[in-house]
Amino acid sequence: MSNIRVRFAPSPTGPLHIGGVRTALYNYLFAKKHNGTFILRIEDTDQTRYVPGAEDYIIESLKWAGLTIDEGPNIGGDYGPYRQSERKAMYGEFAQKLVNSGWGYYAFDTPEDLDAKREAEKEKGNHSFKYGSKTRGEMKNSLTLSEKDVQELLDKETPYTIRLKIPENETVLVNDIIRGEVSFQSNELDDKVMLKADGMPTYHLANIIDDYSMKISHVIRGEEWLPSTAHHVLLYRAFGWEAVMPKFAHLPLILKPTGKGKLSKRDGAKLGIPVFPLGWEGATSEDSFKGFREYGFDSAAMINFLAFVGWNPGTEQEIFSLDELCDAFSIDHVGKSGARFDYDKAKWFNQHYIMAKSGVELVKNVRPIFEEKGHHPSDDFLAKVCDLLKERVVSFNDFWDAGYYLFEDVQSYEEKMIRKKWKLENQTKFDALYEFIENITDFTSENIEVTVKKFMEENELGFGQVLPILRLAMSGTMKGPGIFEVMELLGKEKVLERLKTGYAYFNELKARS
Ligand code: GLU
Repeated sequence: MSNIRVRFAPSPTGPLHIGGVRTALYNYLFAKKHNGTFILRIEDTDQTRYVPGAEDYIIESLKWAGLTIDEGPNIGGDYGPYRQSERKAMYGEFAQKLVNSGWGYYAFDTPEDLDAKREAEKEKGNHSFKYGSKTRGEMKNSLTLSEKDVQELLDKETPYTIRLKIPENETVLVNDIIRGEVSFQSNELDDKVMLKADGMPTYHLANIIDDYSMKISHVIRGEEWLPSTAHHVLLYRAFGWEAVMPKFAHLPLILKPTGKGKLSKRDGAKLGIPVFPLGWEGATSEDSFKGFREYGFDSAAMINFLAFVGWNPGTEQEIFSLDELCDAFSIDHVGKSGARFDYDKAKWFNQHYIMAKSGVELVKNVRPIFEEKGHHPSDDFLAKVCDLLKERVVSFNDFWDAGYYLFEDVQSYEEKMIRKKWKLENQTKFDALYEFIENITDFTSENIEVTVKKFMEENELGFGQVLPILRLAMSGTMKGPGIFEVMELLGKEKVLERLKTGYAYFNELKARS
């Protein structure tokens, strides 16, 4: 193992968005590429936003995606606990250190005080009140109150928060691997709360302490965290940890498939596309949705697709297994600008992955789809079905529509084609075809083909006159895989039955028109 240690640090505030999976993926790839460690840390300090089931969902999603974690809440490790709620005790101590060193201060303003201040500022035309170097002097905190008053408030157990004291008139530099040097003016930064009135740390404090104590070498996360990084850099300085500060890499936003803006949860329902890895059962139907898995995606295809949302290998190669991605990945090839979530491309990858698998391999993915429809075929039969249909589907779910007629009666016929192809004068000839087929003993596609050809010769009929009739009778449609293979899978008995039903239906249709 190298010293490369990266963490994926989601908050269990709901199911993991696909952007989160991409963050996890890039962390994983970076770790594996450098023989490092991939850590899962659950950032659950905000009790008000905690959603039961979210942590399990995160773990299951990573598992499904094949992103194996080296340390985490479910498997342990040398730097645990890996759930922030279980590390609570240590954060308060560090917040106190900030106060002691002058990098932090107690703030006694109540939520009502803050609201009132915000309102008053609004009236003065200032709509973005910031608790910071310009305003902290007007607030109720240990910088404005006397030492005695502060002590009194503390003795009375008055609720307080601890805020970070941002230095004045300074340029704070963040060195980002992807974006280069990004600078922030300290006067624009607010004195963020580090420790809340309930004694819980905020994300910022817990995140820095944990990254430090878990020896994180690189922080790879979404672009939305870039502005907070200025605060984080100051926190490393405040604690005297600058020398071991991790390197930062902020990943580009994921953009909607079309139009402007960031891909959002709502785009999933609106566009009928998956924006989560797995399905989720929320309290209401609006809160419930299907994920890539339920849309019939191969997880490897989803991963291959996601790798390209923001990264490219610098070559023409598009198909990468997870191991190949680990070799090829490099942060230098991650883009700065937003990356489009091109769902058509996701489907393209999935189609490719399905085609590349054998029927035998596909059985486990496709079986549940047929079982849901009440069919329990043997593995052997299902593998044959998969082999026959795999080039005609985009998702696992499509196997049903593409091949339901191998399991159930034909549900509808393409009438227009029947009208065109079913000639009453050929009726007796087709009766003969029935007999030809009836006489096949070994019902293989090869034998069926030979027999049908013999029938055509003897009856002076061409492919264009016979095959459409067979297709329509067997499946109701002109589309589909090789008809002789279809017939073999149906078996002689069903084939004869369908010819009979088909002929009767064709005649009736002809008589009507
Ligand atoms: N808990 C943060 C999140 O939910 C983690 C951000 C980070 O990686 O620092 O995204």
